[in-house]
This record gives sequence, structure tokens and C-alpha cells, in this order.
Amino acid sequence: MPTSPDQFIFSDQFAQLGHKFSVPQTPTPLPDPYLVAVSPTALQLCGLAQETVSDDLFLQVFSGNQVAPDSTPRATVYSGHQFGVWAGQLGDGRAILLGELDGQEIQLKGAGATPYSRMGDGRAVLRSSIREFLCSEAMAGLGIPTTRALCITGSDFRIMREQPESTAVVTRLAPSFIRFGSFEHWYYREDHQALQTLADHVIARYYPELAETAQPYLALLTEVCQRTARLMAQWQMVGFMHGVMNTDNMSILGLTLDYGPFGFMEAFDPQHICNHSDTQGRYAYAMQPQIGHWNCLALGQALLPLTGAVEDTMAALATYQEAYAAQLSWHDKLGLRQVHEEDKQLISDMFAMMNINGLDFSYFFRQLSYLSQEASSRDERLRDLCVQRELFDHWLQRYRLRLKQEASQDGPRQNAMQAVNPKYILRNYLAQQAIEKAQNKDFSEVDKLRQILAHPFDEQPEHDHYAALPPDWGKHLSVSCSS
Ligand code: AMP
Ligand code: MG
Repeated sequence: MPTSPDQFIFSDQFAQLGHKFSVPQTPTPLPDPYLVAVSPTALQLCGLAQETVSDDLFLQVFSGNQVAPDSTPRATVYSGHQFGVWAGQLGDGRAILLGELDGQEIQLKGAGATPYSRMGDGRAVLRSSIREFLCSEAMAGLGIPTTRALCITGSDFRIMREQPESTAVVTRLAPSFIRFGSFEHWYYREDHQALQTLADHVIARYYPELAETAQPYLALLTEVCQRTARLMAQWQMVGFMHGVMNTDNMSILGLTLDYGPFGFMEAFDPQHICNHSDTQGRYAYAMQPQIGHWNCLALGQALLPLTGAVEDTMAALATYQEAYAAQLSWHDKLGLRQVHEEDKQLISDMFAMMNINGLDFSYFFRQLSYLSQEASSRDERLRDLCVQRELFDHWLQRYRLRLKQEASQDGPRQNAMQAVNPKYILRNYLAQQAIEKAQNKDFSEVDKLRQILAHPFDEQPEHDHYAALPPDWGKHLSVSCSS
């Protein structure tokens, strides 16, 4: 069925902010594009019918080869702190905003150079585009706030990274891609008028309830701090590591944004660094919650000209810790309904035991959910993985005792645990297998992974092997910023 170009009428709300905030930028066509992947749920989110996918216009619009009627593509400006250091102006160096569909901003990532590309080529490789596409959809499946991915368009056109690689464009969507760094930009330029315009826009559009409060800008800061804190807790609980938590990658809506060298924790090590380029470990797993706070501090500073008082700003920032603690629940992961004082020790001993035994984070919690009150042969699955088995046995014994203390019942506890401990996560090696197939023009594995990861808590017994531990070759895949 032919698609009417009307399906692709983008509204251009961002442009109404004024010319300071973005520049018109037509995408650079992608030579001979083809469709690599589509997310049907993301399609629904932006109000597009399933049939549109088979129309050539879909491919043309989302590869950046054809500008849809009424769309005025643009690149937005922002700045940021990178690895704790003020980096000055950055901006959409390879992302181009097409406009909005059904309230979702639609952005092409990798659609060519913009005035903000600096030394970059404005492109993205197929490898990183697949990683972003799959992880966006996987995070949504996990129930974690995130930007979404609509589709990937690919091309045989190659660009140079560490080696020549094929290019792709990943189409992302979110109610807004505005970042902490979007505010820092105007603060450091001392353009307080622009800062206020941006804050008013964000409040009116995304936090309308805050407009009624006595101090809307402080309320905005408080709300963003709390959303960020909750997001950090959600990341910690599934072992997600972002890898590049620079302030330009922090969403003003509290979404997981800009998937690069991310990873999910496998052999548990709180100091694990998933980004090969992060030599200091600034963004190591255990650092994420405090880096989230540091980033909120940077936002708080940028908003000072609007909020006025340092003390009030510090009070807004102080709500971060509380929001983080309220969201973080190892009790849920362990299937514990009550909170006892001694649980702190049980939980910290659990992490120490996991670390010493190199236990796989997701596998451990999921396997724990299958165990019953009484010891059984099922225990061996975890026990066999341990180098210090007595340590494991001892901890498990204490855990079982603790379950007895609250008269825990196997069935309900197992169900509750399985609803919060995913069976399927996007392991690096799974992504790598899908990438290698896709590089040979077989896109089936990308789609299969997308489908499995959309329901990470379901058993899906036919896909058991996707929940297995990584093979030796897949344990230490190096992921750098190169994308
Ligand atoms: P990231 O760390 O990927 O979030 O990117 C940091 C900054 O570098 C952003 O301003 C990006 O737009 C820009 N950037 C990253 N890769 C490229 C590229 N290949 N071409 C142009 N700009 C890029
Ligand atoms: Mg970025």
C-alpha cells in the first residue's frame, strides 16, 4: 500500500525557541540505503502505521535522503563537561532533528556533518547504530526511562574508524533531546535571556505542573535531580553502565541518552569500567550514582541566574540522595518483603561474595529467583560457578534463614523476583553476533534480539540460550568511544 507523504508531517516546535538554539541543516544523503531494523513499538509511539515501513518513502525519510514536507531539519547547540572538564561548545555534530511526530522528536543520528561537527565526519557506523538501537529498545523492555529507536538504515558506503566500517543512520525518538549541557551552554556564555527561554520552554512543554509553583526554576532543578537519581538507581539494579556520563549526555527528562560504549555488568566488579577510553574509571559502575549527582550540580550551577539562591539550589540537590535511596531496592531483587536492620550486612556481603566469585550479575539474580527455601540440586548452577564455594554456601544459608524469618513462600517470592530480575539482557557478545551478521547483510539476528529483549522478564524457553553466560571470547570485548 503506498504511503501518503502526509504520514510524515513533522511539526517543528523546537524552531519556535528561536534561531539561537539550532541551525537549519539538511541531512547528507546516505548512498543506496537499505532498511536494517525497525521497532514496531517505537513506530506506534510516533503514530506511524506498520505499513509505512514497506514504502520507499520511509526509507528515504529515515536515511535522510528525502526531506519530508514541512520538515525543516536542524542541529541543536549545547555544551558540556566531558570527563569532569568544561569542554565548551559541542552540539549535534551528527544528529539532525527532523521535527516532531505525535509529540516525539525524531532525530537522525549519523546523517552527516553539521556546523557542530568540529573534526568529526557526522556519520555513525553500523556497529554502534545497532548497539544504540538494541539497547534503547532493551532498556524500554526493562522499564527504564530511555530515548527510543525507530529504525536503522544502512549503506555499503564505508567510513574510517579504527578500520573502515559501513555506515548507518539510527532514527531516535524522545519527547525531547535537551540535555544538561543545553543549559550550561547559555550559562557559560552569560546569555541569561536564552537560559530563561530554554527553561521556560522545558517547563511549559514537559513539566507544566511546575509552572504553578512558587519557584518554577528551582522546582525544575529538584524534579530533574530526582528523575536523575531514580534513573541511576534503575541502572545500578540491572547492572547497566552508560560509559560516558558527560553532562552533554544527560537528559533533562531523566532518560537514558546517547548510547555509546555502554555495557551490562557480567562478572561482578563494582569498579568495572565499560568504556575502554575511560582510563581513570570516572564512569565505573560504582561511580555512577555520585556522577549523576555531580552532573546535577553542574545543572544547578547553570540554573543559578534563574534560581538566584545558592542555598535553595543546594536544598534541591539534597533531594537527590533521598530519591536515589527510595528507588534503589536490593530487597526487591532478593524477594524480601520486610526490611530488617541486618539486611544491610547481608546485601553488602552478597556483593563481596559475588565479586570474589566473579559471579555474573544478571545471571546470579535470575538464578536466585529459581531457588527454593530448601537446598536443592538447583543450587549447583550458581555454586558450580564459584571459586570460593564455602563463601557462596555460607551466604546462601544466611539468605535462606532470612527468608524463613519473614515466612517467605516460594511461589509468590519467585514470581516477584522474576518480575524484577531480567532473564535476558543485551550482553556485548550477543550484540557482537548480531553486528557481525548484519555486516554480512543478514539482519535477522538484530530483529530477533530486539524481540527477545522487549520482554526481558519473560521465560521465553525457546530462547534459553540467549540467557546463557557469555562464552570465553565474549567476556572481555573492548568497547571504545569510537562510533
Ligand atoms: P558523544 O560522546 O558521542 O555523546 O559525542 C560528543 C560530541 O561529539 C557531540 O557533540 C557529538 O555530536 C560529537 N560527535 C561524536 N561523533 C561524531 C562524528 N562522527 N561526527 C561529528 N560529531 C561527532
Ligand atoms: Mg553525546
